Amino acid sequence: MDLAYTPEQDAFRKEARAWLETHVPAQPLVSFDLAEGFDQHCEWESKLHAGGWAMVPWPVEYGGRGANLLEWLIFEEEYYRAGAPGRVNQNGIFLLGPTIMEVGSPEQKARFLPKMASSEEVWAQGWSEPNAGSDMANIQATAIRDGDHYVVNGQKTWASRGAYAHWLFGLFRTDPESSRHKGLSFVLTPLDLPGITVRPIQKINGKAAFAEVFFDDVRVPAENLLGEEGAGWSVAMATAGFERGLMLRSPARFQSTAWRLLECYRAALDRGDPVAPGMRERVARCWMDAEAYALNTYQTVSRLMAGGKIGAEASLNKIFWSELDIEMHEAALEVLGPRGEIDPSSPAAGDVGSWLDGYIFALSGPIYAGTNQIQRNIIAERILGLPRK
Ligand SMILES: Cc1cc2nc3c(=O)[nH]c(=O)nc-3n(C[C@H](O)[C@H](O)[C@H](O)COP(=O)(O)OP(=O)(O)OC[C@H]3O[C@@H](n4cnc5c(N)ncnc54)[C@H](O)[C@@H]3O)c2cc1C
Repeated sequence: MDLAYTPEQDAFRKEARAWLETHVPAQPLVSFDLAEGFDQHCEWESKLHAGGWAMVPWPVEYGGRGANLLEWLIFEEEYYRAGAPGRVNQNGIFLLGPTIMEVGSPEQKARFLPKMASSEEVWAQGWSEPNAGSDMANIQATAIRDGDHYVVNGQKTWASRGAYAHWLFGLFRTDPESSRHKGLSFVLTPLDLPGITVRPIQKINGKAAFAEVFFDDVRVPAENLLGEEGAGWSVAMATAGFERGLMLRSPARFQSTAWRLLECYRAALDRGDPVAPGMRERVARCWMDAEAYALNTYQTVSRLMAGGKIGAEASLNKIFWSELDIEMHEAALEVLGPRGEIDPSSPAAGDVGSWLDGYIFALSGPIYAGTNQIQRNIIAERILGLPRK
């Protein structure tokens, strides 16, 4: 692995920076957990797509730029540096897209990827059920083959952006006699089919960040099966690898938070605010951890570009970034003291920023994408080779 950028990579960075400087909205968009913000974010995505920046590592024919994964990391660094909006279609572009690229038929690639890249079709992830969260193999929703269709029944929950998304990718039991990991299939379904009820779930702040989705004899075309029937678990594990190990949370996200933390600390010193003993070292530690995570990801990407795959080490990454995110937000709130709790839109807020909001979301990091306890189980069994019981 060569840590120096090539002239081509430097030129790519320059081009991305120039485009983002011109196009990133001057004012932050409304949250994509609200209908108005969802539309604003879709508009932003179509702008990105028109500029050729929606999904840089995808082939041009699918709406990408034909860049490689290293260039994607560079793009992500520039994206966060520019303070660009969150990616409303992250479940599509970062999780489902790479999975379709890996196991989809040529027809599925042509049908789904371009509209995903442009975010004309925004995707929700339908894995969790009321009795299948950590224990995902306990999925009960069924999709039973009937001629050219699957007839889908059951309930999914906690589907992020499910309140407004157009499509859902989910795991369903295609063999009703099966149990656990067997007999599950990966099915793609539009959310406007007859028999589907989407019920938004509001967060404590009133925003509909999630949805429950109910299926009542819903007829989904059989061509929407991704991978083999009954092989849904292994398809889902490929998706989970992208989610935990690489794409969902690129290092740039945490590096930019680390820089903001540094600035927050420096501003407190400039103001003469009292800061807790040891805060200087804590801030430096956060910054170094974010850099270490970035270097580790560069190593993973180099391996993937040489033909390697993401394995159980994705679980190590997931624990690392989710815990680091909480630590950085906690440190910032401690530096800010009581000011940290002021609503950033209020006149008294000054430069307090969105640390409190970020902290509340960071708290969910050890839960989504598979809880950190489950990641520790995976590490124990698959990396350390410890016995199950
Ligand atoms: C912000 C956010 C976004 C989400 N988005 C989506 C989405 O888009 N689509 C989707 O399908 N789901 C989504 N989820 C749901 C998420 O995947 C589940 O919350 C998660 O898998 C945990 O499942 P659970 O909530 O049922 O908790 P449970 O599985 O009931 O777990 C409860 C507690 O028990 C622990 N536990 C359970 N089993 C074990 C074990 N074997 N060993 C050790 N500890 C264990 C867990 O770690 C946890 O602390 C989202 C969740 C959050 C917070």
